Amino acid sequence: MKKGEELYSGKAKSVFLTDETARLIMEFRDDTSAFDGEKIDQLDRKGMVNNRFNAFIMGYLEEQGVATHFDALLSDNESQVKHLDMIPVECVVRNIATGSLCRRLGVEDGLDLEPPTFEFFLKNDELHDPMINEYHIASFGWATPAEVESMKVQTFRVNEILSKLFADGGMILVDFKLEFGRFSDQLLLGDEFTPDGCRLWDTDTREKLDKDRFRQGLGGVVEAYEEVALRLGVDLEAPIAV
Ligand code: ADP
Ligand code: UDP
Repeated sequence: MKKGEELYSGKAKSVFLTDETARLIMEFRDDTSAFDGEKIDQLDRKGMVNNRFNAFIMGYLEEQGVATHFDALLSDNESQVKHLDMIPVECVVRNIATGSLCRRLGVEDGLDLEPPTFEFFLKNDELHDPMINEYHIASFGWATPAEVESMKVQTFRVNEILSKLFADGGMILVDFKLEFGRFSDQLLLGDEFTPDGCRLWDTDTREKLDKDRFRQGLGGVVEAYEEVALRLGVDLEAPIAV
């Protein structure tokens, strides 16, 4: 497949058109950002680690029956994905209270959430991704009621599957963000699942192994991502068959 012109360059990834209209190439860059792009840095190897980690997770989710946009790894930093019509909404599930939930509701950091809670956010950096509800999504036509239901069901299913996977690797899946998009008559999981978009704590020590290391200036960001990959048995050096 031939890489065409850049369609979009986000804060951490770039997407390129290809000679197949229904396919994109997603490039994971080393750029890292937090606080709506206020804190930016380049972290050596991060693009490669996230690209390969995302391929592993998307493949695992497919095996467990979750339909995703992921097709194949193309290189250390690139993956082939299906070109989705993205729904401009972020779906967040939380198993433990931390981050913006604690800031918003004044609840104790580290509180177990039983049942897990679910939130929608509008994908809009200028507005700082405000929290929205299903009525906003319906009134503004961002998604149909059936799509809203499907996003919720799929996000909770991903939580079940991945909470177990990470638990087996000695980690707690604290919370995560997913994005979905339309592909003909299907709703597919898009974007990425990496430690950039979730929180992972060591089960015994509660050490942070995710992007909070960057947000909070704790250092060892990519090293932590590599540790997560190692614990799940992801081979970051496996040859890529193209
Ligand atoms: P951001 O836009 O938040 O800065 P990224 O740097 O991760 O984020 O950029 C990736 C962009 O590509 C996001 O806007 C995301 O919604 C979009 N995207 C992810 N998967 C697909 C896909 N399969 N088809 C089209 N767009 C996608
Ligand atoms: N998240 C994300 N992208 C965003 C906002 C949140 O990937 O634009 C992820 C974040 O990494 C965490 C979860 O969603 O795993 C919940 O984030 P939260 O609302 O607590 O926001 P934060 O504290 O990061 O501002």
